[in-house]
Amino acid sequence: MYDVIIIGAGPAGLSAGIYTSRLGMKTLILEKLNPGGQITLSSEIENYPGVCEVKNGIEFMACWPEQAKKFGAEIKSEEVKELRIENGEWRVKTSKTIYKAKAVIVATGSTPKKAGFEGEIEYTGRGVSYCAVCDGFFYKDKVVAVIGGGDTALEEALYLSKIAKKVYLIHRRDKFRAAPSTQKKVFNTPNIEIIYNETVKKVFGKEFVEGIILSSNKEIKVDGVFVFVGMKVNNELIKDLVELNEWGEVKVNLNMETSLKGLYAAGDIRQNSVKQVVAAAGDGAVAGINTVKYVEHTKE
Ligand code: NAP
Repeated sequence: MYDVIIIGAGPAGLSAGIYTSRLGMKTLILEKLNPGGQITLSSEIENYPGVCEVKNGIEFMACWPEQAKKFGAEIKSEEVKELRIENGEWRVKTSKTIYKAKAVIVATGSTPKKAGFEGEIEYTGRGVSYCAVCDGFFYKDKVVAVIGGGDTALEEALYLSKIAKKVYLIHRRDKFRAAPSTQKKVFNTPNIEIIYNETVKKVFGKEFVEGIILSSNKEIKVDGVFVFVGMKVNNELIKDLVELNEWGEVKVNLNMETSLKGLYAAGDIRQNSVKQVVAAAGDGAVAGINTVKYVEHTKE
């Protein structure tokens, strides 16, 4: 029996684990992939307060699991299949076993959305990518397209512009939603060509992507397509247990408590999340501290 089980080892889950274990709770963190979360796909993190050196996501997250383990948290690579409550105790069923806990924090984050063009799925891994830091290297001195107009698309277009010969930045409107400072950098980068008011209709190629066709039927030869069109919350485990908002995000109060007692949600999965590492870490701390209060109260 654990005091707290945390599902997801991104910034929110690991921060929660640091707090709960440091406050003396027997803590288990479960992660289906490697610890670090979605942010490990980012090429540069420059806005985390107190960290002045610009690092990529993998470097940035490297010591978070170690910090949680230092205070006694266990981290296991197991996919959670089901979450349910039985006689006031949580049962967390994974691919290997069933764990029990007094409280659960769900920090399963979000995953990149698909843009929806023809060939997107078929060419994923063969020229269509959702991660510039993972795949950018393959496009040295080549031509790539980036789709999207948010912070991720513009930041990753800048990253790719340092590797690729040319980057087409394709946005469906004529205004970006990315931060003005990032937009300015993009406008000042000579090898980024912006294409406004267009979407990608189709990718084509033999084995690998060789080009794209835009909504205006214009054809552009590219070697790769990077898709950054927003995130979808990973709510599968709890969507039938708790209240959600219209976008499927989990409703929480200021303590990160969901509509079910003893079940907390933190990070990208919760309503009104600004989807920033610093905010996810903050959520994790809030959820962690309040979970400890809840567990101590139930012990009394
Ligand atoms: P986002 O802000 O939701 O932007 C998604 C972009 O994709 C929008 O420009 C949207 O166009 C476009 N789009 C959506 N569906 C599309 C489709 N099917 N085809 C073509 N274009 C499509 O997503 P994000 O950039 O991933 O950012 C998510 C959150 O993380 C945001 O809150 C962002 O501020 C934050 N973030 C922050 C940083 C940072 O602070 N350094 C870095 C990365 C992300 P419209 O504009 O027309 O809707």
